[in-house]
Amino acid sequence: MTFVICNSCSKRWDPARDPACPQCTLESWKSEPNLVRPKHDPRKLPRAEGQFRTVVSFAFVRDTAAFLQHAIENGNWFISNRHQGKPCHFTPGPVQDFAGSGIPAGESMPSWGMDGLLIADPVHNPHVMADDEPNFEAEYSEGQFSSLPICSEHCCDHIAYPGERLCVVHRSEPLASTAAGGSPTQRDESPDE
Ligand SMILES: [Zn+2]
Ligand SMILES: [Zn+2]
Repeated sequence: MTFVICNSCSKRWDPARDPACPQCTLESWKSEPNLVRPKHDPRKLPRAEGQFRTVVSFAFVRDTAAFLQHAIENGNWFISNRHQGKPCHFTPGPVQDFAGSGIPAGESMPSWGMDGLLIADPVHNPHVMADDEPNFEAEYSEGQFSSLPICSEHCCDHIAYPGERLCVVHRSEPLASTAAGGSPTQRDESPDE
C-alpha cells in the first residue's frame, strides 16, 4: 500500500482509496454553510416540488459532524454521469441513523426512509442529500455513476483528483507528496520497518 502526505494538514492517507485528503475534505464539508440546501432541508417541510427529491434527516441536521466523519471514513468517490461527469461521494447505509427520506414529485412530506448519504460536488460546492444503497447500485449498473479514473501519469495507481485526470501528487499544483522520504514526524505511523 502506498501513502501520501497532505501538503496542507500533513494527514497521511492511501491515494488508491481516497483521491483527496480525507481530513481536509471532512473539514471543508463541516465548514460549508450551504451543505444542506433548502430543497434537501427537513426544516423547510412541508414543501412540494415538481420532481422527486430527498431530504436529509433531522438526525443529520443535529449531528452533522458525526455523519460526515462516518461518510469520509466509509464512503467512496464517484462520477455522476447525469451531472456532466461531476464528482460525488456516496456512503452506503446505515450511516448511523436514517440519513434522510424520499419525497415523491408534487408531495410535500417524505414517504420513506433512506439510509445512504450522497454528497454532490464534494470538492468545490458540497451539498448533501439522502439515497438508498440498492437504488444507488441500480443507478451505478445503469451507468448513471462510475468510478473515478486512475491517474493518467505512467505507472501511477492513485485515483485521479476529482474532476481531473491526474492525482494529488501529479497534478500541476500538487496537494500531497509521496510518503517515502517524507517528514520524520510521520514515521511513527509507518508500516513496520
Ligand atoms: Zn489534508
Ligand atoms: Zn498520479
